[in-house]
Amino acid sequence: MITHPKGSAARVLLTSVFGPYARDDEFGSRAINPMELYHNQVTRAQGAFSLRMFHRSWGIMMIQQNISAPSTVLDFPTRDDFARELTKQRYDVVGISSIIVNVGKVREMCRMVRELSPGSAIVIGGHVAAIPGLEHLIDADHIVKGDGISWMRRYLGEDPEAPIRHPEIVSGFGLRAMGLRIPERRGTAAATLIPSVGCPMGCNFCTTSAFFGGKGKFLNFYESGAELFGIMSHLEEKLKVHSFFVMDENFLLYRKRAMELLERMKAEGKSWELFVFSSANAIRKYTMEELVSLGVSWIWMGLESPHSAYAKLENTDTMQLTRELHQHGIRLLGSTIVGLEHHTPENICHEIESAVAYGTDFHQFMLYTPVPGTPLYGEMEQQGRLLDVNLADIHGQDKFNFQHAAISRDDSKKFLDWAFWRDFEINGPSIFRICRTTLEGWKRYKNDPDQRIRERFAREVAALKITYGGILWAMERQLREKNFEISEQIRTLRRDIADEFGWLSRFASKVIGPVMLWTTRREEKRLARGVTYEPKRIIERRNWA
Ligand code: SF4
Repeated sequence: MITHPKGSAARVLLTSVFGPYARDDEFGSRAINPMELYHNQVTRAQGAFSLRMFHRSWGIMMIQQNISAPSTVLDFPTRDDFARELTKQRYDVVGISSIIVNVGKVREMCRMVRELSPGSAIVIGGHVAAIPGLEHLIDADHIVKGDGISWMRRYLGEDPEAPIRHPEIVSGFGLRAMGLRIPERRGTAAATLIPSVGCPMGCNFCTTSAFFGGKGKFLNFYESGAELFGIMSHLEEKLKVHSFFVMDENFLLYRKRAMELLERMKAEGKSWELFVFSSANAIRKYTMEELVSLGVSWIWMGLESPHSAYAKLENTDTMQLTRELHQHGIRLLGSTIVGLEHHTPENICHEIESAVAYGTDFHQFMLYTPVPGTPLYGEMEQQGRLLDVNLADIHGQDKFNFQHAAISRDDSKKFLDWAFWRDFEINGPSIFRICRTTLEGWKRYKNDPDQRIRERFAREVAALKITYGGILWAMERQLREKNFEISEQIRTLRRDIADEFGWLSRFASKVIGPVMLWTTRREEKRLARGVTYEPKRIIERRNWA
C-alpha cells in the first residue's frame, strides 16, 4: 500500500459532506432525507411530536483520535466553511466521509480540493466507497472500503494494529421536541460507545454488515468486557454521563463480552443505562434479570415480517418478547422493512398492521432497498431488476430502486408513508409511549434489592415526575380532536403518574402544560410553513503544535 511521504507529519483534514441537507438541491440534498436520524426514519409522521436531533460523524472522529498526525475534524460544514478551511491551512491529506446518497457532494468537494488545495491527497471513505466504479465518478486519490482507522494509520506510517483509542462522543445534539429546543447541559445526553462495527448476521439488504465483511464477519475494536468497562468509566468521568448509546449493530450477540462487562459493573457498583441495537435471537440469549442488571434500557430491534425467514428472528416469538421487555421497563425501537419479496398489494397492509401491533415505543420503517455493495444489490443486478434511479434517491425513504415482483415504484412510497401514518394513528406520539414504558419499569423495580437497579430507574423516572406531566397534558389536549382514543390513553397515563408522584406532578402539569401546548401549536405552524432544521458546524483540532 502507498504511504504518504510526510508520514505522521502530514496535516490531515477529515470532513463530512457539506450542508445544508434538508432541502432539494443539485448536489443531492433531499428534503425527504434530512440529517436527523429519528425524524428521517422513525418519527417523521409525528408532526410537532417528532423527536429531532443530530448525531456527529463518528467515523472521522474515530480516525482523528487514532492518528498522531496534526488533524482537523470538520463536521457539517457549509461549502464556504470547507473552502475556507482548505485555504486557511495547507493540508496534505483531505479525507471525506460520506454515505451513498451524498456522492454528488463528494464529487464537488473533490473538485474544490483540486482547485483550492492542489497539493492535497484526497481520501474517500464511508459507505459511499461501496459504489461500484466510484473511481470513475469522482476525482480522488484513494477510495477506502471498510475500516478507515487502520487504513489511515498505515497510510501515515503508523502502527495499524495499535489499540483503538475511543473518542469522547456525546451521542446527540440539537434536541428538539414539541417546538422546544432542549438546552444542552453536560451529562444530559448519553455518551456514544463504539465496541465494534459490522454484523455477522449478514441480512441481504444490510449495508453495515456488507461494508465490514458481510455474513460471519465483523470488526471488534474491544474484545473484553474489562476493556469496555475501562472506556465507559473514562467517558463517565469526562462527560459526566451515566448512559451510553452503544453503537454496535448487534451488541448483545457477543454474550461473553457483555457478561464480563456486567461482572465489572456489579463489582464497582455502576448503575449505568445502555441503549443498544440487537437482533431478537441475541436478546433471547439473556434472561430479563440479566438485561436489567446490565442496564439495558432501550433496544433497537429488527422486526421484519415473520414470513421473511431472516436468521435473526429464528425461534423467537417477537410479540411475546416485546411485551416482556416493556414489562421490565425496556424501551423498544422496532424496525420493519416494507416491500419485501413476498409482499403484494393484497398482503402488505396486513403486514404493516402486524408491525404496528407490536406497540413499540418507536418504529422505523424502511423500503426494501438494494443499496450498492450489499448482496441484495448484486442479486438484483444479476436479475436485471435494478431501475435507473439517481444515487441521491437510494435511501429507503422514497421509492423502490428495483423492479418489485408485485408492487410498483409509486405504490412503494404510498405503502411506506401509510406505515408511518398508521403507527402514529394507532400508537400515538413516541414520547407518550416512552413515558408509559418508563413508568412500568419504575413500578416494577423501584424497590429492587439491588441498589444499582433502583438508582437507574430512579434516574430514568426523575423527569417523569415533573416535566413529563406538563408534556403529556399538552399532548392530550392537542390530540383531543384529532385522535380521541390516544388522547384518552395519555390522560390515563398522566393520572397514573400523578397517583404515583403526588401533588407536585399535578401542579407541574398545570404550569408546564399550557406552555408546551403553545410551543406545540407554534411548531405545527412552523412545520406547515416548511421550516427544516440543520446541524451546526463543528471544528475540532488535534495534535497541532
Ligand atoms: S441483524 Fe441487523 S445489523 Fe445485523 S445484518 Fe441483519 S439488519 Fe444488519
